[in-house]
Amino acid sequence: MAPDGQMTAQTLAPNVYDAEPIPDAARAEIDRLLSSGDLFRYTAAEGAPVALLEQEFADLLGAKYALAVASCSAALFLSLKALDLPRGARVLIPAFTFAAVPSAVVHADCTPVLVEVGDNYRVDMADFAAKIDDAQAVIISHMRGHTSDMDAIMALCDARNIPVVEDAAHSLGTQWHGRNIGTIGKIGCFSFQSYKLVNAGEGGILITDDPELAARCVIMSGAYESNWKKHPGMQNSYMLWQNKLPLYNMRMQNLSAAVIRPQLPEVASRVAKGRAGHDRVADQLNTSAYLAVPPALAPEDRAPDSIQFNLTGDWTDTEALRFQSEAKKRGITVQVFGLSDGNARAFWNWEFLGPAPELPQTRAMLMRACDVRLPTRLTEAELDYIATAILSAAATVKA
Ligand SMILES: *Cc1c(COP(=O)(O)O)cnc(C)c1O
Repeated sequence: MAPDGQMTAQTLAPNVYDAEPIPDAARAEIDRLLSSGDLFRYTAAEGAPVALLEQEFADLLGAKYALAVASCSAALFLSLKALDLPRGARVLIPAFTFAAVPSAVVHADCTPVLVEVGDNYRVDMADFAAKIDDAQAVIISHMRGHTSDMDAIMALCDARNIPVVEDAAHSLGTQWHGRNIGTIGKIGCFSFQSYKLVNAGEGGILITDDPELAARCVIMSGAYESNWKKHPGMQNSYMLWQNKLPLYNMRMQNLSAAVIRPQLPEVASRVAKGRAGHDRVADQLNTSAYLAVPPALAPEDRAPDSIQFNLTGDWTDTEALRFQSEAKKRGITVQVFGLSDGNARAFWNWEFLGPAPELPQTRAMLMRACDVRLPTRLTEAELDYIATAILSAAATVKA
């Protein structure tokens, strides 16, 4: 028995940092790849694990084409390149996203334009409408799986013929009016980095129904010489682009696909568990006068593996920091996005963009928005432990 409360709490608190487990079914295929040394996607004449993953992922999401790459960041970069935007093109992105998103825009020689995000973590449509006319493309990050108003966004963009790329890195399994997130814009990008619903350490995939965009992405991802022949469909488009586009070599290798493929059949159950777990904790947090979990939008069926909530009312920074440390004492790590040092999701830390723009609404949200991981494998008892710890930490600070 640990003598002090802190040790006890940390012993009892669930570990939320482990990633999703890899199904045993992956082992045989990994062994096969290791003994044959067949790790490169273009070595086999057909049926390479990466190519099989692409077909299975396209089928899962209901998209025509999928291209597996090294990361979601690579998928975003290739999407912008495939759109053939002029150098310096203005690309709208939400001001609440991961630093990799403005980075992908810069990498593609475009200029990110940050759009305000409300205290429900979604794109502020008034600011979006004010900025859209000067934009040549849009990336919508469904940050932490929160879907922005895709009806309003698509209406504004379609009317102006502005392409939308969905950053669905954290939204695998989310639906909007029953339609899969990632299939609404021209291209949808997903991540297999360890803290996402499907865990391959690293990896990404993009989906599209547009054969020209798919062909351009395939070539630029590193399908040199005639390796495009190993991607099914639209052979004429590929032929058109061979040697006309740079090869950025952002391919996925077979071992990653071997880790990802057996997880795809588990996506539906992870989504259901994640949603139930999130809602169980949200219901408890919403009983507090000091905390609020913003609800989903009406058309949205979420697939969360974390929870975000706001400190509501008149919290000072000092109180918010105390809340973090009170939660920590109970074994739970709560991150207030804007109060943790150098947080990669706080836009003022994206110093590579130059001076931070004035975005008072997003800044205010980030200073009171809290982030807690809720991996889909947690039990109800573990979820209740987390909710109780957060409620008790808030009550202690505000007592
Ligand atoms: C994780 C994440 C990314 C980056 O994904 P990588 O595969 O690590 O490049 C981009 N956008 C969002 C919203 C993310 O959560």
